[in-house]
Amino acid sequence: MQRNEPLKEILASNRALWDHGGIRSSARANFNKVLMCRTDALGAEVYASSTEQKIVPHTCKSRACPSCGYRATRLWQRQMWRHCRMCRSQEWS
Ligand SMILES: [Zn+2]
Repeated sequence: MQRNEPLKEILASNRALWDHGGIRSSARANFNKVLMCRTDALGAEVYASSTEQKIVPHTCKSRACPSCGYRATRLWQRQMWRHCRMCRSQEWS
């Protein structure tokens, strides 16, 4: 199954524009992580039963990744929301 991943396509087709010494190493590292996200390059987990097997590739966990970054942002928002809620409850008691 081919997923629609426009950022990966853009990064892969324009690697020469960003993968050189003029670009910060952290940016290059994150772009490379995005390109490897959910591929065999990062490894995978294998779930198997007696009748079937499923291979789940690892994700990159990069904030630059549309998929992983979105999840990280949602987790951060949830954490901040809990923190603010605890602060408000302490103010009122
Ligand atoms: Zn990712």
